[in-house]
Amino acid sequence: FTSPMVVGIYSFLRSGSTRNKLLLISFDGFRWDYDRDVDTPNLDKMAQDGVKAQYVTPPFLTITSPTHFTLLTGRYIENHGVVHNMWFNTTTQEKKQYYMTQFVDAYWDNGSLPIWITAQRQGLKAGSLHFPGTAATYKGETVRVREVEPRFYDYSNETDWRLNIDKVIGEWFHQQNLDFVSLYFGEPDLAGHKYGPDSAERREMVQQVDRTVGYIRDKIQEHGLTDRLNIILTADHGMTTVLRDGLVEEIILSKIPGFSFKDIQFHLVDYGPAGMLLPKEGMLEKVYQALKGSHPHLHVYKKKEMPSRLHYSNHPRLLPIILFADPGYVINGVRLCLDSLKHGFDNQVMDMKPFFRVVGPDFQKNLVCGPFDTVNVYPLMCHLLGINPEINDGHLDNTKHMLVPKKNTEGKSQSLLVSL
Ligand SMILES: [Zn+2]
Repeated sequence: FTSPMVVGIYSFLRSGSTRNKLLLISFDGFRWDYDRDVDTPNLDKMAQDGVKAQYVTPPFLTITSPTHFTLLTGRYIENHGVVHNMWFNTTTQEKKQYYMTQFVDAYWDNGSLPIWITAQRQGLKAGSLHFPGTAATYKGETVRVREVEPRFYDYSNETDWRLNIDKVIGEWFHQQNLDFVSLYFGEPDLAGHKYGPDSAERREMVQQVDRTVGYIRDKIQEHGLTDRLNIILTADHGMTTVLRDGLVEEIILSKIPGFSFKDIQFHLVDYGPAGMLLPKEGMLEKVYQALKGSHPHLHVYKKKEMPSRLHYSNHPRLLPIILFADPGYVINGVRLCLDSLKHGFDNQVMDMKPFFRVVGPDFQKNLVCGPFDTVNVYPLMCHLLGINPEINDGHLDNTKHMLVPKKNTEGKSQSLLVSL
């Protein structure tokens, strides 16, 4: 059993000859039902060739960086600590917006390793293009093949999308033989924000996404990777319509009797349907009592009393008072914020649910399955890549029904060894 030939075959079987490559794609803000009012031939074909979940449930807070980091780590937001799109410092009052927050290593590298790093540590080659978290260094290590978008980037340009796809499929997977790549597109989120989820512009953008899915699968075919590459196609959150124009009584904190920003040391509001407050010393109870019950569509919680199903209370970065609004409402500070987010709502709200599709050699064909939480995507990816996962909040049991029954490679290698 120690002859070089046997060892050679054994390590050949072990070293991943049976491991397929994996491409994780996120189309920001692609709601689970966006294919219902648009012709999507390529998404339909992908569903026939693979598996479609009815929808998936993202973690709360349903905004971009936190939910993407859940895809990469399998952890709820209170456990991975990327609690917001914005980095903030409650002492200096400094805030960094989404883009600049990408470069604050300490914000991302705070205990949970994204799958790229785990894969690299276990001998695989990983890459990432524009995916949130790509720019950061984790325990001294970055994803080795990466591209971070420039400061002012047009996230909607279809020509650029195709160049990025050519790079990922042609260069990274085909030429450089990478095992895993995460690929991010900023749409249809932007169209949804600008024009609303029910607009013609959003539907046009869904058609652009559909063409892009066709392009990706064609490129994979061109490079002979169809039978060796699995695709997971999903998003970070959905989107809903914010009620405006006197249709509803808006939530404006400064107008609430008994509430004053003078009692607040630091706040994160005017960022859509959720917000956080750090009251000044001794003011917590006063602020809480003023806000609690002040508006029928405003939910006010002390951090420790947040509903446990939301998994958004147990992290030092979360502030002592957490606010979130019912669907259609957003939280304004002093005056109406006219371009506030249209997502960030409770993750039980159907409009917050993203789509989820998979296709590839390890997946069943023409199967529609029920919903699951997106914390379960991480253990599925680790399983597909044959790597040991870090501690996470998901479980393979919640997704394994999508997989083709496992070929017994262990048994095959055993019998080979015995026959030799
Ligand atoms: Zn997003």
